[in-house]
Amino acid sequence: MTQSIGHFVNGQQVAGSSGRQSAVYNPASGEVTAHVALASRDETEQAIAAAQAAFAGWSAVTPLNRARVLFRFKALCDQHAAEISALITREHGKVLSDAAGELARGLEVVEFACGIPHLQKGEHSKDVGRGVDSWSEMQPLGVVAGITPFNFPAMVPMWMFPIALACGNTFILKPSERDPSVPMLLAELLKEAGLPDGVFNVVNGDREAVDTLLTDSRVQAVSFVGSTPVAEYIYATASRHGKRVQALGGAKNHMVIMPDADMEQAANALMGAAFGSAGERCMAISVAVCVGDAVADQLIEKLKPRIENLKVGPGVDEEAEMGPLVTREHLQRVSAYVDSGIAEGAKLVVDGRNHTVAGAEGGFFIGGCLFDQVKPDMTIYREEIFGPVLSVVRVEDFDTACKLINDHEFGNGTAIFTRDGDAARQFAHSIQVGMVGINVPIPVPMAFHSFGGWKRSLFGPLHMHGPDGVRFYTRMKTITARWPTGIRSGAEFTMPVMK
Ligand code: NAD
Repeated sequence: MTQSIGHFVNGQQVAGSSGRQSAVYNPASGEVTAHVALASRDETEQAIAAAQAAFAGWSAVTPLNRARVLFRFKALCDQHAAEISALITREHGKVLSDAAGELARGLEVVEFACGIPHLQKGEHSKDVGRGVDSWSEMQPLGVVAGITPFNFPAMVPMWMFPIALACGNTFILKPSERDPSVPMLLAELLKEAGLPDGVFNVVNGDREAVDTLLTDSRVQAVSFVGSTPVAEYIYATASRHGKRVQALGGAKNHMVIMPDADMEQAANALMGAAFGSAGERCMAISVAVCVGDAVADQLIEKLKPRIENLKVGPGVDEEAEMGPLVTREHLQRVSAYVDSGIAEGAKLVVDGRNHTVAGAEGGFFIGGCLFDQVKPDMTIYREEIFGPVLSVVRVEDFDTACKLINDHEFGNGTAIFTRDGDAARQFAHSIQVGMVGINVPIPVPMAFHSFGGWKRSLFGPLHMHGPDGVRFYTRMKTITARWPTGIRSGAEFTMPVMK
């Protein structure tokens, strides 16, 4: 019998009552491991009501005590790290070491959020006038929601809820229906850490649950991470309903390889950045922009045998470097992109289609794919594939490489590999992308900086976690106070000006 996954509302797991559910797979075997409930509007509203009821109490807990809950949560996650990583691998498919890395990066945000007494201090000015003091407070918003994608079932929710909770908000997480088990476990661990009931809730579901969160007037803010069409919809709908929104979308990340780059270093970096997690990362490199034919030829010579020898297998296999894709539909989608690349005239150097893994024939596996001679008008260049498919685009010079990147609709991450400080500096300064690496292929900012792309990779002004995370989950209130020594006599009808 497969497991049934419901929701986590008001401090406890509850079964779904909508009658709708979705299958959860083990991508390495193709087997259904669980069924997850898809919440109705009514069930989602119950979670909102629980979060609303918990807000007054939680926001009154001192920041230091809120941080202490998060310290305990961090310790519990460390204790359960092997279990959490195994669950990530079981439902997502990524290799165990990568799952452990995802958890570690998520927990760095928890560590950052533990500094909330300092981060939420606000600002104070004594004597803005005679006997007049002024200060700004960063107050929590109330009930906030997070809607997250399948590719990081632990880390992406952790980009959001640790800071939201630390700031004094209550939270509703709507995780991906593809891998819902980790968020449910995190909810249990938060409870065990001492988080009061109703402060953190998980509503599993699809568009019905999402639409409820976007339109209910009790929800003050929505954080979203997922594909661009959905991000755009979330941003437009939630904004129209008066909510604060940050909606992070898709990506097409380019890595420029300059003629003076260390080719060995560049090839190794591309292997991890393009094929790690089977390319299902929003910061994966999917385009290698080679400056000059000599660079392209050298790089392809180094990449081809490495890609052909990639160890593809179940994520639990310690030898495996790359696991399966998340679903059979996604595998078909990625394969169809490879077909379209050939049809549109790109040169397929390594073909990973129809890859089978002995003993795991039902799994959603594909091998690494490498295209050369990719042109900017091709579908495989324009669209996000979200699979282990690397495209080489040949350009004449540095300026053409930059223009290519700036002209792309996405602007999440990018990298340059070079020994030329001048080129690197100019690249970092002028490129129209939110996160830039210099000889670093996946420049994911640490928790104490903020994460976010430009252009159609992010809708909304504030990035995720770091200082922007605290700004997003608080609103500023500025108070000006005058004490008796500063009180002047008589009514004043002109604009108050400090003399
Ligand atoms: P997705 O957009 O399909 O789903 C994301 C979330 O939105 C899920 O919780 C899903 O249930 C919900 N959803 C899906 N369709 C919806 C609809 N029509 N209406 C309302 N809600 C809907 O994304 P995914 O396939 O889970 O994740 C992969 C995508 O996420 C890729 O495009 C990737 O680039 C992106 N991503 C971006 C970042 C980033 O930081 N920019 C990080 C991780 C993933």
